[in-house]
Amino acid sequence: MNVWLSEEHTAGYAVHWRLRDIIHVEQTPYQELAIVDTHEWGRALILDSIVQTTEVDEFIYHEMIAHVPMMVHPNPVKVLIIGGGDGGTLREVLKYDSVDRVDLVEIDKQVIEACRKYLPTISAGFSDDRANIIIQDGLKYVKEAECKYDVVIIDSSDPVGPAVELFSAEFYRDIYELLHEDGIMTVQAESPAFYGDVFARVYHNMNTIFPRAGVYLACVPSYVSGFWAFGIASKQYHPERAAAGRKPVTGLRYYTTDIHQAAFVLPPFVQKLLER
Ligand code: SAM
Repeated sequence: MNVWLSEEHTAGYAVHWRLRDIIHVEQTPYQELAIVDTHEWGRALILDSIVQTTEVDEFIYHEMIAHVPMMVHPNPVKVLIIGGGDGGTLREVLKYDSVDRVDLVEIDKQVIEACRKYLPTISAGFSDDRANIIIQDGLKYVKEAECKYDVVIIDSSDPVGPAVELFSAEFYRDIYELLHEDGIMTVQAESPAFYGDVFARVYHNMNTIFPRAGVYLACVPSYVSGFWAFGIASKQYHPERAAAGRKPVTGLRYYTTDIHQAAFVLPPFVQKLLER
């Protein structure tokens, strides 16, 4: 089959993926959803023609968005994930025995249904009894929720459509209120090389609200430019290293406590984006 997915980022830049198979396509109330089988990257979730996750490299993104905050907090018990409908972040958070409940708030139930059916290794956590799935706009949820969390993870798609406000200062302020006095938030912060403005805005918005804010990097080959950033904001703990005595769960393929610290070392051009 000589069929290619063209992931167009700008008028002058596109990434092409050769497909083995188009497994599933549907239009949801929020986006066009597809599950495809690629030649080199295994199956992938595509939303509005943008790759969200692939079976081959998803571990890098999901381990780094989840284990950094989970290791900074000395005893995470209640966790909130906004977005994350593929289930990869949920799977990682559920690896901690200390966790007794994870609320996952996804706006589009069809993303969860498709990932449960076609991406079972990524979505395995949905069948865990500690996972509580809420189909709702994350913006509304954080305004109305009454429970408090130790860790909140914003695993959103790019800032278009319903995800735009998930990058706003007002949203981070609502999350600040939902966190315990020693709570921590991480967010996917786009590519500093390609979406420098969004990346800088995430940092500045976090920095105006939380006493401690930082960014860290990982290489996620299937995301545009491959160079990916995460924002982390903390009420109390220093985010740049794991809490004293914490040992990572076994079986991880990217995260180690050394990688954790190294990920906060920023090249000068990235540092400069934060100084704006
Ligand atoms: N890891 C991926 C990435 O960086 O491309 C994104 C993971 S996940 C598929 C993103 C999810 O966020 C999507 O399923 C989308 O439906 C959901 N989402 C977007 N806006 C949302 C909102 N306002 N509230 C809750 N979920 C939202």
